[in-house]
Amino acid sequence: MHGYRIDRWGADPAWQALPDPVVGPGEVLIDVEACGVGLTVLNCINGDLANDPTLLPRVPGHELVGRVIEVGPGGEIAMVGRRVVAYFYLTCGTCPMCAAGRDSLCAELRGWVGVHTDGGYAPRVVLPVHNAIPVPDDLDPLSATVVPDAVATPLHVASRAGIVPTDRVAVLGAGGGVGIHMVQVALGAGAAVAGLDVVDAKLAQVERFGAHPVRSTDLSVVDPSTLFAEGRPTVVVDLLGSVAATRWGLDALDPGGRLVALTTFRGRQVQVESREFVFGETSIIGSRYATRAEVAEAGRLVAAGEITPVIGTVRGPSEVLDIHDELKSGTVVGRGALDWSTT
Ligand SMILES: [Zn+2]
Repeated sequence: MHGYRIDRWGADPAWQALPDPVVGPGEVLIDVEACGVGLTVLNCINGDLANDPTLLPRVPGHELVGRVIEVGPGGEIAMVGRRVVAYFYLTCGTCPMCAAGRDSLCAELRGWVGVHTDGGYAPRVVLPVHNAIPVPDDLDPLSATVVPDAVATPLHVASRAGIVPTDRVAVLGAGGGVGIHMVQVALGAGAAVAGLDVVDAKLAQVERFGAHPVRSTDLSVVDPSTLFAEGRPTVVVDLLGSVAATRWGLDALDPGGRLVALTTFRGRQVQVESREFVFGETSIIGSRYATRAEVAEAGRLVAAGEITPVIGTVRGPSEVLDIHDELKSGTVVGRGALDWSTT
């Protein structure tokens, strides 16, 4: 088979002949139908999650969708033929956090799909069966690319922040892959939502879903008291992670508000005083990826039409680097997707 592989962390993946993957015990072989492409895969390729040279060469792409075509020795034969999406974290499945269903906090994390094991930038891939999450069969593969991260991650945010219908949720970076689905998840929870972004097409999409679009080219002049008729935001979801964005979020919140942090950039330090938290009873909440159950729930919501997949660019395998360029330029509304059905 031919697919994309990286031979050096930080280098572009190159199209090359690859060995056919061999399925072992506890694993499934997947015929990849499509693969979501977002900024996280660029971070993986860049070596931001791990840059150990012994992990190379590596096929990137963790947001893969495909059909199970073979199970390893002793595996569950009923999995064959099922459409699955990949769970990003290579969890142990047995530690106390895994046992409690808090998969993304696994104490024995073995790494990530597309970093420590091959991903969906090739037409076939082997995954641990634990990482292959079945989705409804009538969910088409391209739509399913938003399930494992772009929709599951917002479901985790909604759970972590406890978003309820009386909330007023401001999403910073509302037009990107996670952002535009975060807007929908918060609206689905009954909250009022303001979506902040800087690109016209992204703001238009925010408005189409029924959220209030807010141009945030200069965040320092966005007055949080003007976002909602009823008052300041009760929840700010920070998908930008800049010092300015986090500081704005803290200052924007209504008393009792929650700031949800999702980004993992290094060296971005925001100065806060404890008295701020005390006087406002402010919470800063970290939200790390999603649980396996949330990925399954994301599949159900997208298949049921309760969440609309927003995929701004779909390309065949020969053009995957073009998707990367589009993502870097910040113009993609929602997610990008690599479509293997064109080969
Ligand atoms: Zn574990």
